[in-house]
Amino acid sequence: MTLAEELESYLPAGATLRFGQLQLSRTPEGSFVACHADDRTMLPKLEEIDSISGLRDLAKCDGSGEFRPLKTAPTLKSGWKTQSSSAKDFLRRLDAIYPGVFATWVAYDRNEHGPTSLRRTLDRQTGMYRFAGTITDQMANRIMRELCSPGCLRKIAWPLNDQCIVSKIKREPMSIPVICTEACTFAISRARELAKEAYDRENAPGN
Ligand code: SF4
Repeated sequence: MTLAEELESYLPAGATLRFGQLQLSRTPEGSFVACHADDRTMLPKLEEIDSISGLRDLAKCDGSGEFRPLKTAPTLKSGWKTQSSSAKDFLRRLDAIYPGVFATWVAYDRNEHGPTSLRRTLDRQTGMYRFAGTITDQMANRIMRELCSPGCLRKIAWPLNDQCIVSKIKREPMSIPVICTEACTFAISRARELAKEAYDRENAPGN
């Protein structure tokens, strides 16, 4: 089954789903519609965005014009909708807002793409980021608590290390999970900062 066919089966005519901050719906005639979940009760009044580039522009900044470097940050602008009669085209529209997120979920759900542990991701880093691999488990938990949990909609599917067993994320009714199968560059950067702070503390004059 292609990704577009999979999306079509998740969203039969008349159905509604939550996908991150989006509400996805399918009209009885079969058209796919997406809007910000906060706007779900005012669909007819919303401004329509009818191009992939328009949706990419929408996802670039939050409501106050601040750049959104992380596309799964919970800061998507509201006040718009987009619709298409083709599942393939609708998927491209979703990808403009949440790049690759639907594909990641489907591959994970089909057991075609397993998560990469945080330690493995950090151990693969080279150059100035190699240092990130020296973080303690406490620092790793701090990254999840302070960066991932408040700043990102993705549910973490990766374990801390290859020995940890984590339960598989399940799809809740009427939703498509937004998941993280590998730590992103923001988490790696934060790991490097924490590792460097610890190194500087330990090697400060007088220690
Ligand atoms: S590591 Fe994953 S969950 Fe954490 S901020 Fe990055 S993408 Fe989001």
